[in-house]
Amino acid sequence: MRNRFFADKPHVPGHAVSSGHCVACGRQAERNACVCPYCGERVWRPWLWHAARCGVLLLPPALLVGAAFRLTAEPGWHALFSRLRAAPPAAIWLAASALGLLALPADTDGSVAGTDGDLRRQQVEALLGGAAQALYTVTGAVLLAAAPRPSLPVLLLAVPLFAGAAFLPFFLRIPRPRPAAAAALAAAAAASIL
Ligand SMILES: [Zn+2]
Repeated sequence: MRNRFFADKPHVPGHAVSSGHCVACGRQAERNACVCPYCGERVWRPWLWHAARCGVLLLPPALLVGAAFRLTAEPGWHALFSRLRAAPPAAIWLAASALGLLALPADTDGSVAGTDGDLRRQQVEALLGGAAQALYTVTGAVLLAAAPRPSLPVLLLAVPLFAGAAFLPFFLRIPRPRPAAAAALAAAAAASIL
């Protein structure tokens, strides 16, 4: 007779769990998900992925602090705001459209996440991820635009900030149009300062 207890057990993949698959049920998780949407277990990723994720999540906030010090020294917040206040109407329109795009909820219709909590976490991740991406890109653009001439410290802050923004969608569930919105916002900020 067939043993019903063992027949009902989920497929256990053994040692060969490939990246992005659940450690318990072996099914492929959604893009950048850390928890299996089917059974709630951990999704396996190589240590390099975790190390890169830590770097992308922790390094840009430290760079933002450096950028804030840099902008305080040159050109100073007062000068920066007065230049931003004199922004051309096209830049204001571009920034407003980009902010609208950033505030749009993520499309979760195709998600297999079952609970409202999971869907809410996805929306929060999309919103905060998109906001962080925009903040890094705008800060990098403002640094480059406000500097009287491109210097090494400015490049060492701005380039990793752009890289951090570019790599965020590989580690967080950020919807596709958000990077475009971040780039538009950065372009608007740079156009206002230059
Ligand atoms: Zn699973």
